[in-house]
Amino acid sequence: MKPEDSGKIKELDKSYLWHPFTPMLDWLEDDPLVVERGEGAWLFDTDGHRYLDGISSLWVTVHGHRHPRIDDAIREQLDRIAHSTLLGLTNVPSAVLAKRLIDIAPPGLKRVFYSDSGSTAVEIAIKIAFQYWRQCRNPRPEKTRFVTFVNAYHGDTVGSVSVGGIDLFHAMYKPLLFQSFRVPSPYCYRCELGKTFPECSLACTDRLEEILEEHSDEVAAVICEPLVQGAAGMITAPDGHLRRVRELCDRYDVLLIADEVAVGFGRTGAMFACETQGVTPDLMVLAKGLTGGYLPLAATLVTDRVFEAFLTRHDEHRTFYHGHTYTGNPLACAAAIANIELFEEEKTLDRLAPRIERLSHGLEKIANLDHVGDVRQRGVMVGIEIVKNKSTREPFDIEEKKGVKICRQARRYGVILRPLGDVVVLNPPLCIDDDQVDMLVEAVGNSIVDEA
Ligand code: PLP
Repeated sequence: MKPEDSGKIKELDKSYLWHPFTPMLDWLEDDPLVVERGEGAWLFDTDGHRYLDGISSLWVTVHGHRHPRIDDAIREQLDRIAHSTLLGLTNVPSAVLAKRLIDIAPPGLKRVFYSDSGSTAVEIAIKIAFQYWRQCRNPRPEKTRFVTFVNAYHGDTVGSVSVGGIDLFHAMYKPLLFQSFRVPSPYCYRCELGKTFPECSLACTDRLEEILEEHSDEVAAVICEPLVQGAAGMITAPDGHLRRVRELCDRYDVLLIADEVAVGFGRTGAMFACETQGVTPDLMVLAKGLTGGYLPLAATLVTDRVFEAFLTRHDEHRTFYHGHTYTGNPLACAAAIANIELFEEEKTLDRLAPRIERLSHGLEKIANLDHVGDVRQRGVMVGIEIVKNKSTREPFDIEEKKGVKICRQARRYGVILRPLGDVVVLNPPLCIDDDQVDMLVEAVGNSIVDEA
């Protein structure tokens, strides 16, 4: 793009756009990077620079930008129909995709309810869990409450914020929210019980047991992010944590909602995080990588036990009265089918395993740097926590914006990153190759040395 055209786009942006999660006065004073196109793991801006997409365009890109297989699937669907409703009709890609999802999901999940973002899919899970207890075989209408984890993030709509636990994002809306029970986060680096894994024997889950022991007659469901609390700064739960949560839900007859929006579709090295722990949730929430990072589509999967409570006729008044205009959008479903087929055709997860190893190896050097307090990794999801004092774990003053500065510096080394507070987040596309892994690690290491 010509420099004058690039300048025009920046002007339009600054005159008309309001950006998500963005202090707009800071934005208006900045010189924004305008992405024009992508190719594999690369992004190209309107000024002609090339960058490695170190965060998969906010954790969504799977097989790469402009993968011919997904491009073609969308084009072929476009030649048939772009959209048709699932209210009173069905369409080809949404039915085919539902079967594909059930085939790859943890065993026991049997039905798919579509929506269009992680937040809406979480809302749906919350409403289904609430309604389930009112109309299951032995109704328990008093089970209306939810248990969530400190540091949880499940989206930005009012229901999903109600089960969230990140004060910076959520405190403002407190008067609007329903109250949830909150239990400790599996944040080992800053364990609120002052314990160390594995000697702790997952003591942080004891609080969940106490809550369920006392309140299970009021609790509809526990909602969790399996293995990684992503938005909190890639907080990785130790093995066994999710299994214990599942056991406690079973023991106290409470549903388990697994929010795999961030971890699903290969990010932890397996298709779904739940499968690495041998856990089947009662409801599972998918979005982000579902379409390979192409189009907004989300899905809430449920077991037969849950679905059967809704399997009724009109006059029984037990329908799930929920649906969005674009529910089951055929273009998005066609992209998602191609995305899932690519995992099989390109043996994506097999090919990814050595890259994850290589990334771990590179991160060992980063862990030794001054001001790197903790390096957490599950698959391609990485959080590097920057601290003022490595031995005391004292954080930097938030005003110093260390995370922001490090990620901005990474652009000079040709990598796009976005921090979460003072946690530098890496989450590259699964198509990343060895050279790109090396480039990512080097850029991040250099940026930390320069800015921390
Ligand atoms: N759940 C989790 C675990 C997430 O990480 C996110 C987004 O980052 C969401 C839900 C919300 O998804 P969306 O931004 O598509 O609404």
